[in-house]
Amino acid sequence: MPEIAQKKRIAIFGSTGSIGTQALDVIRTHNDMLEAEILTAQTNHELLIKQALEFTPNAVVIGDETKFELVKEALALTNIKVFAGEKALEEVADFDTYDVMLTAIVGFAGLRPTLKGVKKGKVIALANKETLVVAGDIVMQQAMQYQSPIIPVDSEHSAIFQCLVGEARNPIEKIILTASGGPFLGKKPNFLVNVKREHALQHPNWSMGAKISIDSATLMNKGLEMIEAKWLFNLTPEQIEVIVHPQSIIHSMVQFEDGSIKAQMGLPDMKLPIQYAMGFPERIKNDFPRFNFKKYPNLTFEEPDYKTFRNLDLSIQALKIGGNKPCVLNAANEIAVWAFLQNRIGFLDITAVVEKTMDKIPFIENPTLDEYFETDGEARTFAASIMKM
Ligand code: NAD
Ligand code: MG
Repeated sequence: MPEIAQKKRIAIFGSTGSIGTQALDVIRTHNDMLEAEILTAQTNHELLIKQALEFTPNAVVIGDETKFELVKEALALTNIKVFAGEKALEEVADFDTYDVMLTAIVGFAGLRPTLKGVKKGKVIALANKETLVVAGDIVMQQAMQYQSPIIPVDSEHSAIFQCLVGEARNPIEKIILTASGGPFLGKKPNFLVNVKREHALQHPNWSMGAKISIDSATLMNKGLEMIEAKWLFNLTPEQIEVIVHPQSIIHSMVQFEDGSIKAQMGLPDMKLPIQYAMGFPERIKNDFPRFNFKKYPNLTFEEPDYKTFRNLDLSIQALKIGGNKPCVLNAANEIAVWAFLQNRIGFLDITAVVEKTMDKIPFIENPTLDEYFETDGEARTFAASIMKM
């Protein structure tokens, strides 16, 4: 054994986002154990350049090809390889030189690079839940085939994963996914109809990217997480329960066949599941603020309001029906959330667009990867057409 352990080389796909920047915070603090090998960004070339100059990765990718020259020039005096465009994401995912791929791209765009990392047999620290929502069957099957471990970063799934360590032979009776309830907990449609972008972006417990913040406000995020959990932990829809826990201290729970329930707890801070996934199976010592039970005398739980937050119901339908339904749900939601963020549709219209698109797009029971791409395209086009875009 060498005296100094090799550093883990991390490829961060989506390094300029909320998850990506927090991952770099973790790497900066633990630069004796972790290093950034690849960084990618879609449009924010200024932050990507700044990150590249600080972390000197092997390669960077800027998605927006019009910014290639700017990035190339800024990094001209370094050895950092610079790539641009969507295809380049798959090219760098094919590199041998990294150990862990952190999938921190938002949305369907994360699917292709993730599959490439899986095929390379890399450890996947998975934040990009949409990948599993869209094509969980193919991703998990390929992860088995290529022996690519998938370690969840989503806090709920990280909690469940942590509860399952050491329990490999013990079947799960059910999981209990906790939901904060988002900024509009307790509100009714007559309030939600007037909700605006700025208000919906304010999450009480977490600071996140725009898309997932809106998903949290509509509860679509919890619906996507139910589907994500199905694939990660091989569960039936009946084994997945959602409970609203506004304090976000219990990050989720597993109930075993003897009725015993394990929970993973802590203050809400995404850096913890991020560093857990990058360090796994080691836990990395840190100085994050610790949870104090005496400061939280009341941890509360309640049933979600399925009547008001209908996205949760639509997700459960998609989860139960399977096939390309979750892919349709995801595509329509991505487009509708984008339109809401542009102030083009109202808050409640998001659900209406998703529902209509789910009714319209032809069902495929066992889609191929190409069929998932086709479904995604058709669902986006239809959703855009009903919003007259
Ligand atoms: P974000 O919007 O803050 O960042 C997204 C990143 O992806 C950016 O670096 C951006 O450049 C890149 N990107 C955007 N569109 C792209 C495209 N078309 N092609 C390539 N790259 C693209 O998002 P986020 O909040 O960091 O979330 C990232 C993923 O992690 C999402 O799937 C989200 O659901 C999941 N997640 C986030 C949190 C959180 O706290 N932010 C928690 C759990 C799960
Ligand atoms: Mg989550």
